[in-house]
Amino acid sequence: MNFIAKMLVFLGIVTIGAGSVYFYIDSKNRLDFDIKALAKTNNIIPVAVIGSGAAGLGAGVYSSRAGLYTVIFSGSKPGGLLTETTDVENWPGEKNILGPKIIENLKSQNLALGVKFVADTIETINTSTWPFELITGDGDKLKALSVIIATGATPKRLNIVGEQQYWSKGVSACAICDAPFYKDRDVIVVGGGDSAMEEALQLSSYAKSVTVFVRKDKARASNSMQKRAKEVTNINIEFNKEVTKVLGDGQSVTSVQVKDNKLNKVESRAIDGLFLAIGYDPNTNLVKDKLDLDKSGYIKVNGRTQKSSIDGIFSAGEVDDNIYRQACIACAEGNKAALDADRFLQDIGVNSDLLNKLANKFYDPKSVNNKKHVFSINTLGQFKAEVEQSDLPAIMDFWTPNCPTCKHMLPAFEALSEKYSDKIKFIKINADNAEDLVRKFFVMKVPCFIVYQNGRLAARNQSFMSKKEMNEFILKFIN
Ligand code: NDP
Repeated sequence: MNFIAKMLVFLGIVTIGAGSVYFYIDSKNRLDFDIKALAKTNNIIPVAVIGSGAAGLGAGVYSSRAGLYTVIFSGSKPGGLLTETTDVENWPGEKNILGPKIIENLKSQNLALGVKFVADTIETINTSTWPFELITGDGDKLKALSVIIATGATPKRLNIVGEQQYWSKGVSACAICDAPFYKDRDVIVVGGGDSAMEEALQLSSYAKSVTVFVRKDKARASNSMQKRAKEVTNINIEFNKEVTKVLGDGQSVTSVQVKDNKLNKVESRAIDGLFLAIGYDPNTNLVKDKLDLDKSGYIKVNGRTQKSSIDGIFSAGEVDDNIYRQACIACAEGNKAALDADRFLQDIGVNSDLLNKLANKFYDPKSVNNKKHVFSINTLGQFKAEVEQSDLPAIMDFWTPNCPTCKHMLPAFEALSEKYSDKIKFIKINADNAEDLVRKFFVMKVPCFIVYQNGRLAARNQSFMSKKEMNEFILKFIN
């Protein structure tokens, strides 16, 4: 290659006829950024953000402020991990603020700046062509000019005997969701990090006793969190202890097998609940075969940027951060990713003039006004009238105001109610105010979805369901 050709490649610009095709020579998958083709493209999204936790919302603020039309796909857990915490004392500028409140504030800031939210997941991303093709859980095909992956991380599991069998039947990874169901009971928290201390503190207001099992002889949690936990009389921290088996009576957990790592002894402990707080796995399913990941499975970013191994795709938050894992850092990574996306779009020639011309081709998510299809009940009398005496089957969503997973699943429940309300009744039941119904249906955990059909309980689901999974669950009961 001669010097001039080398320079053109270095600049990433090759002129073909009258139009310019931009590409980055360093890219793993070399992409042509043929902006002329956009004139024939529909459902365009200049900045598509996948995930709506602190990182995704941080990205939305900066990309919309840069004048870029931005769509955030809320994902399977709208609001992300912050919605599962309570008091946050390290959010800049706030002495003390609730995690869900941070998300609420960020979301309203995004909305005020014109960011669009879609209550759906992205199921597929095609990174081999540009614009990148995204396919939503509802099957919509979208063309993203840049993508910010902010899919966060998921709590790890122990992978021991009995854990899966008793999941949601005494085994949980969310104290804030399930603590009220363990009033005056004995529970164990596994883990020695800040999450374990936080879970123990949340449980201590309800449970009779909370035992924290730390597998080594010291806990990794910050001194302040350990101090707070140690000051609570019904919290007891035991070191060198590992849970090796979960046992139960078929219905719920009754005990665990515990190994003392120092004495090499195994014992049995009678308990009512086991809460896991043993760290997180990054949510990279969507991109794991497409982007470079580090040896722990986190998305690799380029130096101090949020650039992934494919130009035009950026990452932010817990999905790439295996070191700091703090909400404010996730949010700031979102800010950085949006700045990187803006620079990338400018570099390939997607400027404000072009975006104005393309505006009528932007993907505009329909706003769903569906709440009227969901009924709320809380007494046995209402259950008889609305469910038992109805010709239609009913799906009942037991929820509580403190349950983040319930909030995460509500948009999907409401959206599906619009689609199927003539075939199945959608009922919401606030478990905090519906003692008789909670007892009638043995609800021990929320969210809990119960389908009632032909005068009997037809199905129960207590695990998290994406919109697609909830759709499949409902389809089993309607013609
Ligand atoms: P961490 O990775 O910090 O801690 C995980 C804990 O689980 C460690 O004690 C680890 O033990 C233990 N563990 C891992 N696997 C097992 C296993 N199989 N059996 C038993 N124990 C196991 O995760 P956290 O979720 O606690 O925290 C993540 C990040 O979020 C941290 O940066 C933390 O500071 C932050 N955070 C901050 C909060 C706050 O400031 N209020 C609240 C919650 C989290 P070992 O040490 O032996 O590896």
